Amino acid sequence: MAVATQQPKAATRLVAPPKESVVDRFLRYVRIDTQSQEDQTSTPSTKKQWTLANLLADELRQLGASNVRVSEHCVVYASIPSNLPEGTSRVPTIGFLAHVDTSPAVSGENVRPVFHANYRGGDIQLPGDPSQVIKVAQNPLLEGLIGDDIITTDGTTLLGSDDKAGVATIMTLVDLLLSNPDVRHGPISIGFTPDEEIGSGIDKFDVAAFGAEFAYTVDGGELGEISDETWSARLATVTFHGKSTHPGTAKGMMVNSIHALGHFVTLLPGNMLPETTEDRVGFVHPYIGTADVETSTLKVLLRDFELSGLEDKERILRENAAKTERAHPGVTIAIEVKENYKNMKEVLKHHPELTENVFEAARRAGVTPFSKPIRGGTDGSKLTFRGLPCPNIYTGGHNFHAKTEFNSRRGLEKTTETLVHLVQIFAERSTVAH
Ligand SMILES: [Zn+2]
Repeated sequence: MAVATQQPKAATRLVAPPKESVVDRFLRYVRIDTQSQEDQTSTPSTKKQWTLANLLADELRQLGASNVRVSEHCVVYASIPSNLPEGTSRVPTIGFLAHVDTSPAVSGENVRPVFHANYRGGDIQLPGDPSQVIKVAQNPLLEGLIGDDIITTDGTTLLGSDDKAGVATIMTLVDLLLSNPDVRHGPISIGFTPDEEIGSGIDKFDVAAFGAEFAYTVDGGELGEISDETWSARLATVTFHGKSTHPGTAKGMMVNSIHALGHFVTLLPGNMLPETTEDRVGFVHPYIGTADVETSTLKVLLRDFELSGLEDKERILRENAAKTERAHPGVTIAIEVKENYKNMKEVLKHHPELTENVFEAARRAGVTPFSKPIRGGTDGSKLTFRGLPCPNIYTGGHNFHAKTEFNSRRGLEKTTETLVHLVQIFAERSTVAH
């Protein structure tokens, strides 16, 4: 198969700069409070997420994006048609996704971003709360940011770079592509979602209407960090059945399930807990329960990158339950296991070009790419199993969900550049003669 003559050059130069710099755009979006809230029955969980969603839709229209709309659940959709010459072979529709909400863990009200121009090194004390210090000792990456402009908060709120960095870089991508028609790309879908931080927004995302074959969430951290792997996750609910009687006349009759629960917890392997593991090592995590004489319950998260590792952890729980029953005659223990989500690598391994292309895009942007498995789930992992394979791309952000959250001018600019290269790489690599 010969390469077609219309193949775009590897590094098409952008002619026009964006109408607004990615940094200015970011500084504008982080000031808008979009905090989501746990335990709400509706999506979006908070009304304030509409403010940013509607603003983004307006701005997408102004930039000239197509099919811009906001769904009844506060999901923003838009698209950019292909600008490849006719006769070019088919290029897949690539989607880009970011979430508008910020974590319920730390306030996102009255975010006052602080711009530390030309960072000279050293700890960064945040002006609004002297106890909030971004320390080099805890953030060795700061050494690499000398000369960059660092963006923090004043120390009283989170920054919301998670994920307004994703939103701002995708919006700047749209701006750049629509004002630079010489940059060749296939069809592009854009999506901004609510309630990522509480895990429910993506359930309202319409994969079919989005219309992409593949997508990327732009919701990662350090420049270069690309994730195509997440936990495989299950939830075990362990129920301990005892027998309640009046304690005054309980001798020989009462079977207190609380003692069995305590025994079971002591049997959990100490080297297999969130507080004792990192990197690719999975864990079991008892995190909530109820204690009552008659019936006690314990919920345990099971996490591993390998399905076989999850099976092992489930087996350990069942063995420990049998041991506990033997040690506490009269107690019966039931274990119910539910699947939460699966490692997206199970699907993405069949689409290696998604990871390869973003690695190449990073290199073209002057960023060294590396893989980082996510010790959690992402919206992308859920979408992957709903038929939209979806790795995660860096944003340059650090210290998510904390008052010490920060990003930098270079972080935002290099992420944007990566996205611009990425759409061109898909166009180049698909553009072959018939
Ligand atoms: Zn995020």
